[in-house]
Amino acid sequence: MDSLYFEPCELPQEAEVLRGEIRDFLADNLDPYSPEVRSRSWAGGDPEFSQKLGEAGFIGMRFPKKYGGHERNAMERYVVIEELLAAGAPVALHWIADRQSGPLLLNYGTEKQREMCLPGVAKGETYFCIGMSEPDSGSDLASIRTKAVKVDGGYVVNGTKIWTSEAHRCHYMIALFRTDSEVEEKHKGMSQFLVDMNTPGVTARPIRNMAGEEMFNEVSFVDAFIPEDMLVGEEGKGWQQVLSELAFERSGPERYMSSHILLHALIREVSQNPTERSAVAIGRLIAHLATLRQMSLSVAGMQDAGQDPSLAGSVVKDLGAVYEQDMPKIAHELVGADPQLMGGSDFEKVLAYVTQATISFSLRGGTREILRGIIARGLGLR
Ligand SMILES: Cc1cc2nc3c(=O)[nH]c(=O)nc-3n(C[C@H](O)[C@H](O)[C@H](O)COP(=O)(O)OP(=O)(O)OC[C@H]3O[C@@H](n4cnc5c(N)ncnc54)[C@H](O)[C@@H]3O)c2cc1C
Repeated sequence: MDSLYFEPCELPQEAEVLRGEIRDFLADNLDPYSPEVRSRSWAGGDPEFSQKLGEAGFIGMRFPKKYGGHERNAMERYVVIEELLAAGAPVALHWIADRQSGPLLLNYGTEKQREMCLPGVAKGETYFCIGMSEPDSGSDLASIRTKAVKVDGGYVVNGTKIWTSEAHRCHYMIALFRTDSEVEEKHKGMSQFLVDMNTPGVTARPIRNMAGEEMFNEVSFVDAFIPEDMLVGEEGKGWQQVLSELAFERSGPERYMSSHILLHALIREVSQNPTERSAVAIGRLIAHLATLRQMSLSVAGMQDAGQDPSLAGSVVKDLGAVYEQDMPKIAHELVGADPQLMGGSDFEKVLAYVTQATISFSLRGGTREILRGIIARGLGLR
């Protein structure tokens, strides 16, 4: 059996200095947001906040300066992300661009694509969405059917993407399309494109989720023309590029800190009448949190060292979802309060939102069963 090892990783001094700076920024800029709004964590967005964060130099931190970035290291970015999540900052709008699409363009994009998009991303003004899943292709992503057919000067795209987070508010999508339907092996013949969401024939239609929010979308492509210089990377290499993109997606602090505002609210609530039972429960949650943090930091260290973090990253995402899905149950049992969508105390409203939201945590970014399959394969068990 292959082994799984999480090398301990310490945050360098410069990252801790930055922690003070981002805390000051958040103290100045987060006042108007209630605990209930903050409980949305990286699913809550506010264009004004994204812009201020960009102005302060906390977006595009790892991008080269020539694209408006700040050439910081991975650990410095990690600390900033940690603090944003701990405070429940509304970061949804720029989140994908900063975490995933920007780095993808730096890896595979052309100079023109980078110059066109990255400065706006670093300013917190240009937002991206991810067009991977389709109505019959989620876990089995390689079965996508949306086709980009080569024509003079570009491609004509027809098909549908689904569950596309924030597509209705984004400027660009990084989309995975089938450019060759004749290939026998389904992992081949796919390509990534930079799609301007204002392209004629591209329509984002929000889907209401069970919390009543319009966060994700169905995006249809009807004879949408995508110029050939919007191909990202190599035609036919989309699958390999997507796999490298998923490594950015699975192991960051957002995989165990999406419900952090509930942990704050719970500690405040039980502190009013502390008992041994609540001390034990909170102690266990904090122990899980501290362990997940060490594991996630270790994955960040692997990424920095150019190692393949896909197995370790999948473990962090899976265990992070278990921890976050347990938290509202523990909070409910401990306090005895019922979640309240309308009215109720801050704690009850936060509990209501997180109870509904955490259900999706073992779906988004790869389902629990798929991740456990990747882990089993990585350990040589299948
Ligand atoms: C909040 C949220 C945001 C999202 N945002 C985006 C986005 O921005 N862009 C995007 O492209 N997608 C997005 N998604 C889609 C997400 O990636 C898919 O929901 C996920 O990959 C699962 O695909 P599916 O919904 O088609 O379910 P299916 O793949 O149909 O799976 C249904 C069930 O069957 C199980 N299953 C499937 N295959 C296997 C197997 N081989 N072995 C064992 N069990 C299996 C799954 O684990 C799951 O429980 C988002 C989803 C959510 C919930």
